[in-house]
Amino acid sequence: MKLPAGLGWVRFRQSRPVVGKITNCTVGLDGGRWHVSFQVEIELAESPRHPATSAVGLDMGVAHFAVDSNGTAHTGRNSFRQLEQRIATAQRRLEHKVRFSQNWKKQKARIARLHQKAANTRRDTLHKLSTAISQNHAMVAVEDLRVRNMSASAKGTLAAPSKRVKQKAGLNKAILDQGWFEFRRQLTYKQDWRGGLLIAVPARHTSQTCPGCGHIEAANRPTRALFRCQACGHTAHADVVGARNVLARAHESLSGQDLPVAPVK
Ligand SMILES: [Zn+2]
Repeated sequence: MKLPAGLGWVRFRQSRPVVGKITNCTVGLDGGRWHVSFQVEIELAESPRHPATSAVGLDMGVAHFAVDSNGTAHTGRNSFRQLEQRIATAQRRLEHKVRFSQNWKKQKARIARLHQKAANTRRDTLHKLSTAISQNHAMVAVEDLRVRNMSASAKGTLAAPSKRVKQKAGLNKAILDQGWFEFRRQLTYKQDWRGGLLIAVPARHTSQTCPGCGHIEAANRPTRALFRCQACGHTAHADVVGARNVLARAHESLSGQDLPVAPVK
């Protein structure tokens, strides 16, 4: 490619075909590696028709990244957690080095590369999952988790400091680490491309509502993993129940009725 500003021709490895008309190009340096990205313009069919006809609900969690309404668990990767130890060690080593010395600079670069690696692994995992789900389902329903608020509220406010700061911070870390935000963003545009639908439904009681009879009670969920309805005895994996309720709510919101969660047969 030929770069402006007197840089001239440079070689690059094309990691994927460039489709469409290139309108813009960005050269960046990340963790000691250069990359170039092209912005392209593609003409899409007026209103693409999604090839699939099925719908799926997703329950986002920490133990599993997501569990769908068909009962499949999709494991995310706590990529950062795995690399965290290595990063911490590298960080400690940095402290023993003389600031701005050659070895200090080398160590600094090593840390940047580890962070880069964590980010790449995470993005790759999320893309694979969002692509698979978007390809297979015309409608995807997710809980409308206000992740941004959740992660902001861990510290509480000065007037009302959160009592469970540590516990909440841990959960928030897991949420941010797993990239729910990014996942949702990817699902949104991938569904747009294919003419599919992404629906976010209110998360209230999705884990406590019985998909069999509609009974809502906290005791319906005795443990993190188990759902057992106190009224009708319906028993299932709690995350699958959550995902089915999310799907049911999406169907309701499409039909314009806001009924209590309808039974899913
Ligand atoms: Zn029930």
